Amino acid sequence: MKIAFIGLGHMGGPMALNLRKAGFAVKAFDLSDEACKKYAAEGLAIAASAAESVTDADVVISMLPASAHVEGLFLGSGGSKPGLLDSIRAGTLVIDSSTIAAATSRKVADAAAAKGIAMIDAPVSGGTGGAIAGTLTFMVGGEADDLERARPVLEKMGANIFHAGGVGAGQTAKICNNMLLGILMIGTSEALALGVANGLDPKVLSEIMRRSSGGNWALEKYNPMPGVMETAPASKNYAGGFGTDLMLKDLGLAQENATAVRAATPLGGLARSLYAAHSLAGHGALDFSSVLKLLQKAST
Ligand code: NAD
Repeated sequence: MKIAFIGLGHMGGPMALNLRKAGFAVKAFDLSDEACKKYAAEGLAIAASAAESVTDADVVISMLPASAHVEGLFLGSGGSKPGLLDSIRAGTLVIDSSTIAAATSRKVADAAAAKGIAMIDAPVSGGTGGAIAGTLTFMVGGEADDLERARPVLEKMGANIFHAGGVGAGQTAKICNNMLLGILMIGTSEALALGVANGLDPKVLSEIMRRSSGGNWALEKYNPMPGVMETAPASKNYAGGFGTDLMLKDLGLAQENATAVRAATPLGGLARSLYAAHSLAGHGALDFSSVLKLLQKAST
């Protein structure tokens, strides 16, 4: 099976490498020369353009930052730049793993269907660690038959594959999850900062809470306090991982969705404002666990 992989960022790069390691013929592309060079050095075949990567592909995978990038890639921009759907053969399966608005997923999937191209949304959870280890969770929106076609590919990048519903449903599940994640990272940071301000050792406090009723994913795998967890972005000056601006985007998508369906999401709204303030303070490119900086004395 031939796979075109577009978007070799923090997540897409390792995901594409796992597909190559599994024996698929992968042709990859990213707008960033730096990303292309990095993954060419790791052995990935790099195409000269997105259009070239898809010419003989059976499956096209995209892993881009936000809705505008996915819409711009597949549908083009206002006539001057043709969309990638014009270059993809009918019968091809498109898997978009970016986290974007469900409405955009439906818009692009409808345009694809009009050209005989099947498309599913398959956003992921599990962070860069999960992308590298091939243990991501996929939340899929689309036809059950299309998910079955995608399954052998998704299985090489993830450990859990869920069918959330029709096109766009994967995105809805993803923003619910990330709204919860954004809130719990702030709550975890708040509790750790309070303990440290009282002289507690953050490693000891983290272990106490991890094994108590406050235990959660941040304490298990992604501690926001530098030095507590060697592998977490917090211990690497918050480099890599999941950017604050990407979390801000996801919380914005959750709020737009909540407005549309008249849902009450007070903590999601507050979390969005706190990540926005953190981004405005110049921390948008840092991992989202750096939100701890908002809640902690500068000297600690
Ligand atoms: P990233 O910014 O590291 O990577 C995105 C890549 O897309 C960049 O290399 C960029 O150059 C490339 N790109 C943008 N437009 C392009 C185009 N038109 N053609 C080709 N390449 C293009 O982002 P990431 O952290 O890899 O995240 C990707 C998606 O996955 C986002 O939607 C994010 O919300 C989601 N996500 C990220 C994480 C995480 O931990 N980083 C976890 C789960 C989901």
